[in-house]
Amino acid sequence: MKYRTRIIHGGRDRDPYTGASSIPIYQASTFAQEDPDQPPPYDYSRSDNPTREALELSIAELEGGVAGFAYASGMAAISSALMLFQPGDHLVVTNHIYGGSFRALTSLFKRWGLKSTFVEASNANEVRAAILPETRGLFVETPANPLQQITDLKAMQEIAEQHGLISMIDNTFMSPYLQRPFEYGFDVVLHSATKFLGGHSDVLAGLAVAREDDMGRRLKRIQNTFGAVLGPQDSWITLRGIKTLAVRMDAQQAAACQIADYLQGHAAINNVYFPGLSDHPGHAIHEAQADGPGAVVSFELADGATVLRVLKQVKLPLVAVSLGGVESILSYPAKMSHAAMPPSERQARGITDGLLRLSVGLEDVDDLIADLDAAIGGA
Ligand SMILES: *Cc1c(COP(=O)(O)O)cnc(C)c1O
Repeated sequence: MKYRTRIIHGGRDRDPYTGASSIPIYQASTFAQEDPDQPPPYDYSRSDNPTREALELSIAELEGGVAGFAYASGMAAISSALMLFQPGDHLVVTNHIYGGSFRALTSLFKRWGLKSTFVEASNANEVRAAILPETRGLFVETPANPLQQITDLKAMQEIAEQHGLISMIDNTFMSPYLQRPFEYGFDVVLHSATKFLGGHSDVLAGLAVAREDDMGRRLKRIQNTFGAVLGPQDSWITLRGIKTLAVRMDAQQAAACQIADYLQGHAAINNVYFPGLSDHPGHAIHEAQADGPGAVVSFELADGATVLRVLKQVKLPLVAVSLGGVESILSYPAKMSHAAMPPSERQARGITDGLLRLSVGLEDVDDLIADLDAAIGGA
């Protein structure tokens, strides 16, 4: 089956009990055990629920893994996966990891005894230099947020194999439609399905996928023990979103390319950060390891003082955090995702007061450009 067909028919494409075209929402906590001598297919919804299972089969299929797991949020997925490690273990993590993952590692998991070193993962030498005798894992994200730095998946996996590390990647920005890290040998792929997979800004959900059976069993034990599972209603909404992943991604990405070109030619814009642009520093690596640049474009207004006026003047994009919805979302990293970071640290990382991040939605691209043009021009 080709990929677009697998999106629709991979996993479980109808209800095995009734033939229903959409997997029903099995809103049940427990299941009758007709013959207590036999292990039942379902016994308790923390362990397995048929609606959640359909979503888990779907994401395993789309990532090319053996087992998928659905959680109450992206952070629940990431935190559950971090339970693969033990107190005393050490992780090497990209500097540009999602803010919530940074907080989990530097507060909760640090207190628990899991140590992390943050490095510039676009430089493989920095990754190698950070490895200690107790290093057990490597955790990356590419393209990274909000400046879209690219990490070389092949180089990372070589390092992980050489040192016997569990390799984990947050694949939220690409979705499996555009990037499948198991093709490079990664061990665990993580998602905030709140973003492109759900795709409609109407659900919080997280997913983890294992490439091999043993990792699948370990994640299953953690999921069942820790219990941060996704409920059947939200599993259904996420499954429904995934069905249109390819058409949404294609359209949003095409519009993002046009918007990136428009922004690059605008006199009031200093920098445009988008892996589809040929002058993006990670362009060649990204092109080799992903099927497209995605639909998130970051850009810097030459005059940082005009940002608030631009945010007030745009009419179409929702000014908010998050990304990957059918509606465009414009966010202001300095005041939103990176507000907790000291201004000097923000500046050093290139997250200036003029930086904006646009998640391009499904509106007509001409309308989006006209709206941006009016807001930026009038700034
Ligand atoms: C949003 C996001 C998360 C966290 O997901 P939630 O569903 O909000 O918990 C993790 N990683 C990335 C890259 C994200 O964008």
